Amino acid sequence: MTDEGGVGGVRKLPQNARTLPDAETQDFPCSGCVGPAFLRIDSITVQPGRIVCEVTVDPVRRTTDPALASALLREHPTLLSHACVNDVGDTFGDVIERTSVPHLLEHLVIDLQARTDGRPDDTFVGTTEWIDEGEGRAVVQVSFTDDLVCLRAFRDAAEKINDAMLR
Ligand SMILES: [Zn+2]
Repeated sequence: MTDEGGVGGVRKLPQNARTLPDAETQDFPCSGCVGPAFLRIDSITVQPGRIVCEVTVDPVRRTTDPALASALLREHPTLLSHACVNDVGDTFGDVIERTSVPHLLEHLVIDLQARTDGRPDDTFVGTTEWIDEGEGRAVVQVSFTDDLVCLRAFRDAAEKINDAMLR
């Protein structure tokens, strides 16, 4: 009985009531906010038969590594057999552990499109070029059969890569 009267103190209540809303706002950022992004889509342009996408990646982590590769291969094992022009072999599997992150984006977009459309991955072609490697800026181009499917694939692929890089 006497304890109840002593807990907190009536005078402190107004103070608590004022500070709570502020604390909530800081603890729960709006749902539109995203976490740190290693790969950011700067622009997407639909051109006849292909989508041109400019991206920026964290220059420090612009290259894939075995951990990132295996994280994405769990959901997308078919990436290994994609036809790919590279210095090592004939497939993307030859370079997936040590290629540029934008190149990984390119192949993930192709994989997602092939899966969504139910077509073989060699239906689609893509290219990746650095605009400025030191700044992590690149342009990725991928062909499509349905531009909306391709746009969604770019968005989903960027999200998957960012998720995998956060781990
Ligand atoms: Zn390739």
